[in-house]
Amino acid sequence: MAQKRDYYEVLGVQRGASKDEIKKAYRKLAMKHHPDMNKDNVKVAEEKFKDISEAYEVLVDDEKKARYDQYGHAGVESTFRQGGFDWSDFTHYGDISDIFGDLGGFGAGGGIFDQFFGRSARRGPQEGRSLRYDIEVTLDDVAKGVEKEIHIPHTVACKTCGGKGAKEGDFKTCPTCRGQGQVQRGQRRGNTNFVTIADCPTCGGKGKHIVRECTACSGAGVSQTTSNIKISIPKGADEGMRLRIRGAGEASPNGGPSGDLYIVVHMQEHPLFAREGSDLYIETPISFTQAALGAEVEVPTLDGTALVTMPAGTQTGTVFRLKGKGLPDMRGRGHGDEFVKVSVATPTKLTSQQRDLLNQFSQSVGAYEKSTPRKSIFRGFRKGE
Ligand SMILES: [Zn+2]
Ligand SMILES: [Zn+2]
Repeated sequence: MAQKRDYYEVLGVQRGASKDEIKKAYRKLAMKHHPDMNKDNVKVAEEKFKDISEAYEVLVDDEKKARYDQYGHAGVESTFRQGGFDWSDFTHYGDISDIFGDLGGFGAGGGIFDQFFGRSARRGPQEGRSLRYDIEVTLDDVAKGVEKEIHIPHTVACKTCGGKGAKEGDFKTCPTCRGQGQVQRGQRRGNTNFVTIADCPTCGGKGKHIVRECTACSGAGVSQTTSNIKISIPKGADEGMRLRIRGAGEASPNGGPSGDLYIVVHMQEHPLFAREGSDLYIETPISFTQAALGAEVEVPTLDGTALVTMPAGTQTGTVFRLKGKGLPDMRGRGHGDEFVKVSVATPTKLTSQQRDLLNQFSQSVGAYEKSTPRKSIFRGFRKGE
């Protein structure tokens, strides 16, 4: 397992930093690493965001901080429910909720923040659950951008009752939560009292009872459907990119807005090209006569082939750059390049005539005349490899 990073280091504060400094550092980093602000690299952002939240959870809490200062990570592990930090262990979202209030990530349910915390922040009708769809695309797809049609099974609000589940609006307010839909529960963990807010067990969070059920949906308020959705994968899209389609998720359980659909892009492995950002990499073999005499070599590109002029004396490992033959940049900043790395192939089958010619060649230069041993620049080179 990788060495766990020091919490002070994660938040970029000094040991002995004040609570105020810790809060400031966390808010700044939370802003930077919030996944909704890092659409290009959500996975990394999610991990970073979780790491800084874990560090904050410990350092902002006097008791946990004292244990961590004395015993390190081992001292606080037992305070996490799973023996390791999980979002359910994070108790300070109030400290940053105001940052994300406007981002839609923290609002009335459904946002990624809410998924993290496994909670539903509720003001008014609840938003439906968000859905995730993983889509695989090819290099050719992202070279030009592509439209794809996907089929998403999800729920929609019942048309007859408008998603409310009751016939002709026939409701009674829930007596347990007095219509709030939520109840508070005190919980003691260690020396700390926590107040958790949970869905009302009587009405399941709806705040009211249906007196007469809608006959079309039997009171569920939703019906199942499959939507055919056209999505545009933009030029230059890369692994992990997320597209958000508002309102294409699950219907609200109580007449609120539907959740969102998140499309997560995955890159299919290409048989020839490796990719890094908008640059492409390919290796091509050339014969040793081509290498020695120079040649025009045809190499594949994404849209066909290109001629690369290799000078006489080209060595294995030489890299040629085809400017602009890479992928388009997602932000519209031109194209990446294609890099062609050469490997010189030594012939394995020779006719006797060819062997004679090579022998003559060898004698004409002298077997070792031209090659002076020198220090290897190939780092992976070791004896026996
Ligand atoms: Zn209905
Ligand atoms: Zn209730």
